[in-house]
Amino acid sequence: MHRMESAGVIGAGIAGLACAQALRSAGVPVSVFEKSRGVGGRCATRRINSTAGVDHGAQYFTVRDARFAAKVEEWCAAGAAACWSGRIVCLARGVTAELLEQNIRFVGVPGMSAIAKSLSIGLDVRTECAVQAIRRNDDRWHVEDAEGAMYGPFDALIVTAPPLQTLALVGGHSTMMALALSRVRMSPCWAVILQLKEMLQVAFDAAFVHESPLAWIARNDSKPQRQTGNCWTLHTTEDWSLVHLDQSADDVTRTLVDEFWRTVAQPTQLPEFVAAHRWRYARPIEPLPQRCLLDSAIGLAACGDWCGGPRIEGAFLSGLAAANGLLDGIGERATIS
Ligand SMILES: Cc1cc2nc3c(=O)[nH]c(=O)nc-3n(C[C@H](O)[C@H](O)[C@H](O)COP(=O)(O)OP(=O)(O)OC[C@H]3O[C@@H](n4cnc5c(N)ncnc54)[C@H](O)[C@@H]3O)c2cc1C
Repeated sequence: MHRMESAGVIGAGIAGLACAQALRSAGVPVSVFEKSRGVGGRCATRRINSTAGVDHGAQYFTVRDARFAAKVEEWCAAGAAACWSGRIVCLARGVTAELLEQNIRFVGVPGMSAIAKSLSIGLDVRTECAVQAIRRNDDRWHVEDAEGAMYGPFDALIVTAPPLQTLALVGGHSTMMALALSRVRMSPCWAVILQLKEMLQVAFDAAFVHESPLAWIARNDSKPQRQTGNCWTLHTTEDWSLVHLDQSADDVTRTLVDEFWRTVAQPTQLPEFVAAHRWRYARPIEPLPQRCLLDSAIGLAACGDWCGGPRIEGAFLSGLAAANGLLDGIGERATIS
């Protein structure tokens, strides 16, 4: 690749959107393809009625890197993010303990997906477009969706789907990317959203739970600008999720709601709303050490939170690295960076 006059990005999660914005800032026209109805991927807010949404994927984010800090500052100034000062504790069999770490936690407002929406401003994002194949003709890329429609050509293509799906798309084009991708494993997580009529009489807003199928519980409306009434999000441990991955959502919901009442040690209530969601690829078990996979010779990159560092910040930095790597590497030979 000697010039980059167009780029395609597969996936509109934080990594894909950060990558697309970085390319756009460098003057490259970008098209983003997203299989879901909206942007955000695992940084997700689920609507439970016409006005209210509950975070059922990522719960908050922390900031270490200066480039991410600058973006978070922008989000806060634009009203797309704010600090969450909820009281977070550790819970084990009814015993509450204070958290040792005191990280500053941020959330999207009015839901986690707001930061993805903010990142997508000005981008050409085609939603409900699941890419099933990528093709290279005359040194340029085309993508094919599930209906067989073709898009392109693109000088550069960036794939940000979970590692297994990324492998299926890029494996036939880059052996070194295929080798790296085949080493990454993701752990699953069940999420349950629970809306209650009565406020719980507990002295915390969220808890890391121990010795339980639950790993995390959080009162959604303890976060800024939520209009969700009395909603809680429950997340399971990696071990429990693996064992119960293929159970029905109804069975999982019953078990986890019972466990929730045991955990908070409160009189049970009939939920006003309850729903379970299976995150099959929730978190990378061991992310690759490099920030992105890059094959500059053919203008192909892959990135996501499974590269360089987990979590939202890791996804953002991975997307930046893919964009910068492709821009730097124009005309250079293939390398993983
Ligand atoms: C339950 C849970 C809790 C979490 N809690 C936290 C937390 O508290 N703090 C934190 O920082 N992080 C948390 N995370 C992790 C965080 O959500 C991720 O690190 C981050 O959102 C990953 O972004 P990404 O862009 O790499 O991937 P994704 O968000 O997975 O984005 C990939 C996108 O690609 C799309 N896609 C996939 N295949 C195709 C295809 N073939 N064609 C088109 N589009 C496709 C997907 O629909 C998706 O939108 C949590 C995750 C989960 C699941």
